[in-house]
Amino acid sequence: MSYVDEVIERVVRENPNEPEFHQAVKEVLESLRVVVDANEEKFRKDALLERLVNPERQFKFRVPWVDDKGQVQVNTGYRVQFNSAIGPYKGGLRLHPSVNLGIIKFLGFEQIFKNSLTGLPIGGGKGGSDFDPKGKSDREVMAFCQSFMTELCKYIGADTDVPAGDIGTGAREIGYMFGQYKRIRGVFEGVLTGKGLTYGGSLARTEATGYGLLYITQEMLKSKGMSLEGKTVVVSGAGNVATYAIQKAQQLGAKVVTCSDSTGWVYDPDGIDVAALKEIKEVKRARLTEYKNYRPNSEYHEGKGVWTVKADIALPCATQNELGIEDAKTLVANGVIAVAEGANMPTTMEATEYLQKNGVFFLPGKAANAGGVATSALEMSQNSERLSWTFEEVDSKLQGIMVNIFHNLDDAAKKYGFEGNYVVGANIAGFEKVVDAMNAQGIV
Ligand code: NDP
Repeated sequence: MSYVDEVIERVVRENPNEPEFHQAVKEVLESLRVVVDANEEKFRKDALLERLVNPERQFKFRVPWVDDKGQVQVNTGYRVQFNSAIGPYKGGLRLHPSVNLGIIKFLGFEQIFKNSLTGLPIGGGKGGSDFDPKGKSDREVMAFCQSFMTELCKYIGADTDVPAGDIGTGAREIGYMFGQYKRIRGVFEGVLTGKGLTYGGSLARTEATGYGLLYITQEMLKSKGMSLEGKTVVVSGAGNVATYAIQKAQQLGAKVVTCSDSTGWVYDPDGIDVAALKEIKEVKRARLTEYKNYRPNSEYHEGKGVWTVKADIALPCATQNELGIEDAKTLVANGVIAVAEGANMPTTMEATEYLQKNGVFFLPGKAANAGGVATSALEMSQNSERLSWTFEEVDSKLQGIMVNIFHNLDDAAKKYGFEGNYVVGANIAGFEKVVDAMNAQGIV
């Protein structure tokens, strides 16, 4: 049995009930086969892949808090510190009822390669809790965040592990967590990113993931002699990534006709109204059913459906496994040119392969949504030098990073004979740097 197959089998056997983690490991290791096969003897002897798929350390902890009725609630908190070969652990905190250890491990594993691809010195980690901020009062969210950080603060720090936002963790949650960290540890340091602008946050961090997604999509289209100008785009999600992806796509001359949330989706033939979307989701924290009040010409549908709308470009920006094989077939039948993942692993492996086989340009999340973590690393740099850069400065660095990422993965794909396969290109480009650093640091 090949080394790759052996390690995949071992991961499945030793981590039962973690299907998302298995999926992420399989996807990455399958695409690294060409590199691993060429170095099989050395990698095997060093147990390189076993070390790569085993987190350096992981924490699971109780998070008790009191709700508005005086009832004690108990959630579970996680932090997985996956790989620090190239820098302090870096990765978001997800607050969503679906969170479990397998999901955090899949995200942490992917984060290693994503962070490497940015070219910045950040290792891979991820955390979160099964707490659902939806429907909770501000006081309840604060009580949860304070309890969560009371435990988490023992394991993180500006030079060891720097968490950020993710699904369910926005500016409000980061603020409460930062306050509690400072109170307990007694230090004002850049221990979290995605902070508010008045206490160490970076301009353009809010926009970074969505903007970065469009910068890399634009660079990929440019390499094919195309552009975003005049293209029709379908987007899923209505959160941080989706909102700023829609905004930047429109600025670059495309028309975005859909968005969605966990209960339904919107079709707006005139193009999504970003100001309305922000008011509904960021200010009112309401459902997309409200969108029709702002745009009477739009349609609201219950359930899933954005991938049924005819478009040139599809940008999944909600959550994992939201674009399956049937969706991929519909997109191809409707003539889609490119799919770029704003979310983490939103496309199933089967759907990804189908899209690639049918000539669709496919940019995987670990490259396409790396703008968020890259800008988080820029926030760390600003915190370290106790300075704040202008929006334009951060945005132009972000553009440079995304353009570089595209060329790195394009070159890696070409070098190993997989021209145009950006999944293989991204995994190899991310992997090579991490492996080099791991080898240099000995067996640790
Ligand atoms: P948000 O919480 O801001 O938004 C998530 C959106 O997706 C919401 O519209 C939400 O609906 C919807 N959603 C969440 N879970 C589900 C589900 N199970 N089924 C259907 N819809 C769902 O999160 P972000 O925009 O920050 O994150 C979106 C994705 O992007 C995630 O995969 C995240 O890991 C990834 N990502 C985020 C980065 C960032 O900087 N924020 C960086 C890199 C990746 P509702 O409004 O109903 O809650």
